[in-house]
Amino acid sequence: MRGVNHKEPMAERVIGIDLGTTNSCVATVEGGVPKVIANKGGYKTTPSMVAITDSGRRLVGHIAKRQAITNASNTVYAAKRLIGRKWSHPTVQQARQVLPYKLVEGDTGDVRIELRGTASSISEISAVVLSEMKKIAEEYFGGPVEKAVITIPAYFNDGQRQATKDAGKIAGLDVIRIINEPTAAALAYGYKKNIKKRVAVFDLGGGTFDISVLDIQDGVFEVLATAGDTYFGGEDFDQRIVEWLVFGFAKEHRLDLRTDAMALQRLRDAAEQAKMQLSVTPSAEINLPFIMSPSPASGKTDALHLQRTLTREKLEDMTADLVERSIEICDRMLKEARIQKEEIEEVVLVGGQTRMPKVQQVVKEYFGIDPVKSVHPDEVVALGAAVQAAALVGAQEEGKQPDLLLLDVTPHQLGIMIAGGYFNTLIPANSTVPTSSMHTFTTVRDAQTAVKIVVLQGDSEVANQNELLGEFLLTGLPSRPRGEIEVDVKFDISPDGIVSVSARDKSTGVQQSIQVTATNRLSEDEMKRILSTNEEFAVAEKNTEMFTKVKNDVERHMRDVDKLMPLVKDFITGSDFGDDALKKVEAVKERAKKAIQRQDVEALKDVQELLDRAVSMLKGVAERIASKK
Ligand code: AMP
Repeated sequence: MRGVNHKEPMAERVIGIDLGTTNSCVATVEGGVPKVIANKGGYKTTPSMVAITDSGRRLVGHIAKRQAITNASNTVYAAKRLIGRKWSHPTVQQARQVLPYKLVEGDTGDVRIELRGTASSISEISAVVLSEMKKIAEEYFGGPVEKAVITIPAYFNDGQRQATKDAGKIAGLDVIRIINEPTAAALAYGYKKNIKKRVAVFDLGGGTFDISVLDIQDGVFEVLATAGDTYFGGEDFDQRIVEWLVFGFAKEHRLDLRTDAMALQRLRDAAEQAKMQLSVTPSAEINLPFIMSPSPASGKTDALHLQRTLTREKLEDMTADLVERSIEICDRMLKEARIQKEEIEEVVLVGGQTRMPKVQQVVKEYFGIDPVKSVHPDEVVALGAAVQAAALVGAQEEGKQPDLLLLDVTPHQLGIMIAGGYFNTLIPANSTVPTSSMHTFTTVRDAQTAVKIVVLQGDSEVANQNELLGEFLLTGLPSRPRGEIEVDVKFDISPDGIVSVSARDKSTGVQQSIQVTATNRLSEDEMKRILSTNEEFAVAEKNTEMFTKVKNDVERHMRDVDKLMPLVKDFITGSDFGDDALKKVEAVKERAKKAIQRQDVEALKDVQELLDRAVSMLKGVAERIASKK
């Protein structure tokens, strides 16, 4: 594999992005070594948070997180929990109850987030985070980056995968592959290690849980089985603490903290902090002064404070069922894939929530082995994505097969609806991708001239209990008695796990095919609109950055002028040149002040040069005075 070096201008720059529920991370491969790229603040992960301020500015990452408490209803976190979901999905309705920002239904039955009166799709919000990761990489490389591998939870369905790809496109990325997070972690773990092992990757992040079992051997990473829950993660642990705090406060003061968005945001922050602290200490203090005003009925006037001690034991007690749920999913997956626990030689822990000692203990007890400690749970997924990106691009440039081979599986069953409303599986779960499968169906009515192909993904035998991926009509069939017309239906799943389906009438050869488009996906028109609004934001952001830069420079010049002026004033006053020059300098200073007030970057740029010249002139005079003394 060819390493990518930012000092070599000709090398293709490729990145791997872990688009996390809570935090995101970007990595690349340099000189054959995968490495995480830190953001400007020096942090290796960036909060997956997006906010719109009251002046309409868009903020992302740490800066969005820092203002979340005072701008809770316009700050988005955990958008990944909603990506590719339909409005009617129970998890969306559940999310509406707890999120401080507003969810609304989109025209196609998708979920939108309303910030300061404007509704955005979840792909758009995720794109803002992806753009930020792209920007971090571009600042590091000192030039543009387009090609990226993005990771997703293994258990994401087709709609969630497509929505993530859309987000990449909106962010201006060429998404060369979407790969599953646990698989990426295994890639980073086994990369260049010459190991031959059966490995389980237990990935409990902020919002999703995945378990995958892989065989790693000589650069071949073969996923044997995967399972998970795309609405289960660290956020649920935080929520338990929030509920405990809310309940305790309500009992004491008869007030519901959830009615106040700012208080709720403070509770969430404090809950997460306490949870993280409890991974290292046996107890944690939660202190939230001035959390709410007392109710008028109480007759009290002083603001209320919240102060509680949470012990590790209590936290483990409150979240025991969550930890148990992760083990149940592991158990179900191993049974379905007919893999014995004893066959697993290594367990790799991924995702921030696996830092909780109880999670580590339960995983150790279940698998009967000590989990691997050598990987960094927050960085390993992005590193694996970078390894895959470099392998794909390196191989393409050199015109050969990648020197590592990734064989992943599809997490859900795929099939179509058949007569009676049943679900007919065409591709079983845990089939290696890319894959295809063909089945022949016959007409069920006499003189039936059209068939409707309803494509579904899920585990239920009843069609409408599964996720609808799309539907299409195969028309123009010859009119014959039922059972006589045969239709071949072919499913293809790409290496990204994305589905396309075709149907062919065997007698006439008439064929229809579609790339299954989730019913709640963004239309092409909408995509165009988003891309152009994004450009506006990009220009707006650039302008703000540019304005600050020029303003700082101008202010520095004005300070220099103020320092030099008293030194030279007496010397040059009285001469024509001197009086004129002084007037001009004063006038430029006035123009600069006005330009700053108006935030007019172009006007500031004009005075920037004049001030620069004025400072040089004044410095020259001051030097002359000094040499005369
Ligand atoms: P990830 O999606 O991998 O970035 O994981 C983020 C989740 O890990 C969040 O829910 C965090 O609260 C949680 N987390 C991070 N550090 C710790 C820790 N030390 N103990 C418990 N949970 C943690």
